[in-house]
Amino acid sequence: MRSLKPGATALIALGLLSLTLVACSENKQAKVPGQAQPAKTASEDQATAPLTDAADIKAGMDYHSYANMADYQVNNIDLDLDVDFSRKTLSGTATLEVEKLNKMLTPLVLDSRALTINKVEVDGHAVKYSLGDTDPHLGTPLSIDINDSSKVVIHYSTSPQASGLQWLNPAQTAGKQQPFLFSQAQAIHARSFIPLQDSPKARLTYSATIRTPKALRAVMSANNDPSSAKDGEYHFTMPQKIPAYLIAIAVGDLEFQAMGERTGVYAEPSVLAAAAKEFEDTEAMLLATEKVYGPYRWDRYDLLILPPSFPFGGMENPRLSFITPTVIAGDKSLTSLIAHELAHSWSGNLVTNASWRDLWLNEGFTTYLTNRIMQITYGDRRYKMEMALGYEDLQADLADKDARDQILAIDMRGRDPDEVFSNIPYEKGSLFLYEIEHKIGRANFDKFLREYFDHFAFKSISTEAFEAYIAEELLAKYPQQLDADRFAQWIHQPGLLADAPKPQSDAFDKVKAQRIAWLAGKLSTDSIKTANWSSHEWKTFLDGMPKQLSAKQLANLDAQFAFTQAGNNEVAHSWLMIAVRNQYQPAYPRLREFLVGIGRNKFLRPLYRALKESDQLALAQEIFEQAQAGYHPLSVKVNSKIVYPES
Ligand SMILES: [Zn+2]
Repeated sequence: MRSLKPGATALIALGLLSLTLVACSENKQAKVPGQAQPAKTASEDQATAPLTDAADIKAGMDYHSYANMADYQVNNIDLDLDVDFSRKTLSGTATLEVEKLNKMLTPLVLDSRALTINKVEVDGHAVKYSLGDTDPHLGTPLSIDINDSSKVVIHYSTSPQASGLQWLNPAQTAGKQQPFLFSQAQAIHARSFIPLQDSPKARLTYSATIRTPKALRAVMSANNDPSSAKDGEYHFTMPQKIPAYLIAIAVGDLEFQAMGERTGVYAEPSVLAAAAKEFEDTEAMLLATEKVYGPYRWDRYDLLILPPSFPFGGMENPRLSFITPTVIAGDKSLTSLIAHELAHSWSGNLVTNASWRDLWLNEGFTTYLTNRIMQITYGDRRYKMEMALGYEDLQADLADKDARDQILAIDMRGRDPDEVFSNIPYEKGSLFLYEIEHKIGRANFDKFLREYFDHFAFKSISTEAFEAYIAEELLAKYPQQLDADRFAQWIHQPGLLADAPKPQSDAFDKVKAQRIAWLAGKLSTDSIKTANWSSHEWKTFLDGMPKQLSAKQLANLDAQFAFTQAGNNEVAHSWLMIAVRNQYQPAYPRLREFLVGIGRNKFLRPLYRALKESDQLALAQEIFEQAQAGYHPLSVKVNSKIVYPES
């Protein structure tokens, strides 16, 4: 998934955001986990863990799951769930097909979080189960005596506060008439709506029967059928093995419009046409990606446009990417988000990180592929801009993050994955691949990538498995161009190598030159040449402004370019950052409207931080109070910590 920095591209993809820690009230309830999990809180960990600690990390070990995956493998889950908007719950059964991997008579241990377990049945009989101690990051282990059976039926319901579900009332949707539900399982939130082995290395198929209010349509990361009747009952199957974090559901007033033979869009009626137009290049992107990296293996590729409170840019749920409406810009300037989520159909969904430490294998490869897809679809100029923006994102995070968080194969033990996410696995990972491409040549590197996707298709791999593979497939084949020590530095050391590539864009150089001349008073506001600027150029122009501008400069810019009314959310955000720092009051009605109307955390977090840092905390709190009912729980968690720093 994707999204983050104020300064960047991020246009992209998704992701998880950089979430901070849980609120204080939750911290007080923290218990030491009962299983073999580390008990340190993230803050303790940050303070004490030296980089060398990473030496004892077990390759491929998932430190964020209680599941005993060496003893049992859950091969399929069949869900039968009622969607209750009044109680904000999913309730029903999950039937697990379990394969025993050894002869030990140990209980099956699953991940759960805030689930109410009503009954567990094996072979038609109720059996014993127990819930262990709750860890604030990991949730609660669920142990079940399944004896020798291979089928377990768990009767359960979710909490109204389930961390992976968001329940929207009609006012929080685009259409304002019907409620909306969506899930966001990455990284470790699937366990808040399904009891399961919630680890990216535990792959499974699933099927589901979902019952909804009759006016609504349910969709999942599975075989959606837009022609199925809106009768309140929907059936799904996902026949390919996926990790748990890719199980996804949404329910709302959804309609469908085809964009191509294999591509289409689901959205609320009021945004459907605009979305289908904005993303009409999706089919071409799909064809282009297949040509270079091998067949698309997931049948259809559809988009789901979420209400504005979706906290991320996008989420690569297989067959149905979840997309923020904030990238519907009217000019296709933000479609790299679609390229990113589509690219995950190869890197991430097909070849998956074995643990969250290995996330860079998902996101670094996907970011690299995104740039390549953008080049094929929109040409070299756009490619260079996307690369340069990514590089700026990377520089910003390298300046901002501790050394230990600048490492691709990051030490995640004892930490909440939501808290650790940054641009590093995305942009540093991508730059690493870009360097290899330039050293061995694009044709050779494309061949390598295509074989890599074939070799590890439908597998979850660790950083170490990747390193063993490239030792044979790259280092041994290109000994003149490539170097093992250099690879190790890219993957295991903080920062960037001094001679790492530095992507640049001529288009941005011209923008920057004009900004400098304008700031020096050598270029009048109405002489700035902005013809054919995309939102990338506008953002570059604004993001490079000094922290303080004069009232006259602000008024001139706004009069000339109407930034306060900007329709593109990226441009509006860049302008509002400047407005907040300079307390430019004419933009404040828009600031409030923006913060209340949009829940994408990439936009919220920098604005709340800027309000706080410029002594406008009371205003930040007032707006937050007005807005938070429409935010996703993750956005509430992160931003309440900013606006209530003392609590
Ligand atoms: Zn991603």
